[in-house]
Amino acid sequence: MLDTLTAALRSVLPADEVITDPVRLRTYECDGLTYHRATPGVVVLPETAEQIARIVRICNDFGVPFVARGSGTGLSGGALPREDGVLIVTSKMRRILEIDLPNRRAVVEPGVTNLAITEAVLHEGYYYAPDPSSQQICSIGGNVAENSGGAHCLKHGFTVNHVEACEIVTPDGDLVTLDALDPGYDLLGAFIGSEGTLGIATRITVRLSRVPETVTTVLAAFESLEEGGEAVSAIIGAGIVPAAIEMMDALSIEAAEAAVACCYPEGAGAVLIVELDGPGAEVARQFAQLQEICSKAFELRVADDPAERAAIWKGRKSAFAAVGRISPAYIVQDGVVPRTSLPRVLAAIDGLSRQHGIRVANVFHAGDGNLHPLVLFDDAEPGAGERAEMVSGAILDLCIEHGGSITGEHGVGVDKARYMPKMFSDDDLDTMQLLRCAFDPKGLSNPGKVFPTPRLCGEVPGVRKGVHPLVESGKAEQF
Ligand SMILES: Cc1cc2nc3c(=O)[nH]c(=O)nc-3n(C[C@H](O)[C@H](O)[C@H](O)COP(=O)(O)OP(=O)(O)OC[C@H]3O[C@@H](n4cnc5c(N)ncnc54)[C@H](O)[C@@H]3O)c2cc1C
Repeated sequence: MLDTLTAALRSVLPADEVITDPVRLRTYECDGLTYHRATPGVVVLPETAEQIARIVRICNDFGVPFVARGSGTGLSGGALPREDGVLIVTSKMRRILEIDLPNRRAVVEPGVTNLAITEAVLHEGYYYAPDPSSQQICSIGGNVAENSGGAHCLKHGFTVNHVEACEIVTPDGDLVTLDALDPGYDLLGAFIGSEGTLGIATRITVRLSRVPETVTTVLAAFESLEEGGEAVSAIIGAGIVPAAIEMMDALSIEAAEAAVACCYPEGAGAVLIVELDGPGAEVARQFAQLQEICSKAFELRVADDPAERAAIWKGRKSAFAAVGRISPAYIVQDGVVPRTSLPRVLAAIDGLSRQHGIRVANVFHAGDGNLHPLVLFDDAEPGAGERAEMVSGAILDLCIEHGGSITGEHGVGVDKARYMPKMFSDDDLDTMQLLRCAFDPKGLSNPGKVFPTPRLCGEVPGVRKGVHPLVESGKAEQF
């Protein structure tokens, strides 16, 4: 069937934009989570929304699943392709279509990188606020699908707070626009963070923010993680909402030193990076408070100009990749706990690490309790990968036990689908499926992601039969 499908796809795109060569297909077999791999049936490289709509309609005609892919930096296997399906890659859709400064917005194609938006408007004193550490390469379409965050989302909000409208291709191939101003249900809100399961974003209207008048970045070095954690709670408790509060432990500092020589204070058990932004007088007042709060820090560095700030951020921004310097393999975990639970959860992670003989480096968005434990292992050592997976899973259990979440910003994807029933009841999951089925009754748009097993409308195989239990019990209506 793939041959007939390929022929149909070649009626929409030039031959070299429909990839079937096995060697070229392997480029797309995984995203940033390399643990899960699958060779896609066919890869297509469309250049317009209309082409995507036609491709999706062909997939419908053939009953074939399709998966969207931006830059492939996702860390939960969301863009993992299907061997029996079509991978729709947006890397040729990189045009900034409109910059509308009076209305503080820009309209962009989905393959545009996050940083390219800021670069296009910075000279006018504007920027695009959400800043994943992968911002030089990740696409805005991927950001929308994952509702991506970043270091500065503590104060400025996630992708969902900065997208005003999305043109999407629905799972049955219609081109429609979801606008934040539309009356009725917040369908744009539902689409953002839906991980490619409700359709494909083809044109995105993003909000532009004014570059703050003053930015001060402070690096505080503490002897222990506990002291750093106490400072985080005290900062928030004092009513300060910094643009960012990031923390790194001794192991992640060691990795960053080895990779990028960031010259953080020697002997630090934890470093805290706090960025204050806003009007000059407000930043000065908050900085004075911060100095008092960080009285236990054995060194405080302050940066006011872009070069000094970049030097402080260098270690933090490179932390994930840097870990490759001290370990042959590692898992990047992503979970959330309430800020007040941070000291207890970090101590428990340390306990797990000792118990299983698996090192864990902690890098995290401390301000919003978003942990990124990096679970290190040697993939050449028999059983080490399994032990690392176990520790990684136990960390998510800790997050749930403490009232947190199994993901803060990297999404559920294929990787964490099995944890969804630990966090949600069957009724919760079924209700989410009602939404999914409303967009995608045939279950063709990125099936196998987010939800643990085929449920309701049946990801595989085909449409759900029978009455949904919520409908039967009178709790929901189906129209
Ligand atoms: C070093 C590193 C640092 C990172 N730091 C952060 C961070 O600070 N914060 C953060 O939130 N994430 C971070 N990430 C994760 C990742 O960069 C984000 O999830 C990003 O948004 C993925 O974008 P992408 O273009 O690479 O998407 P992909 O990986 O290609 O796809 C991700 C998901 O989006 C879907 N998708 C892609 N394009 C579309 C579209 N046009 N329409 C509908 N669905 C689509 C895919 O099907 C998939 O489910 C990091 C990753 C790396 C490797």
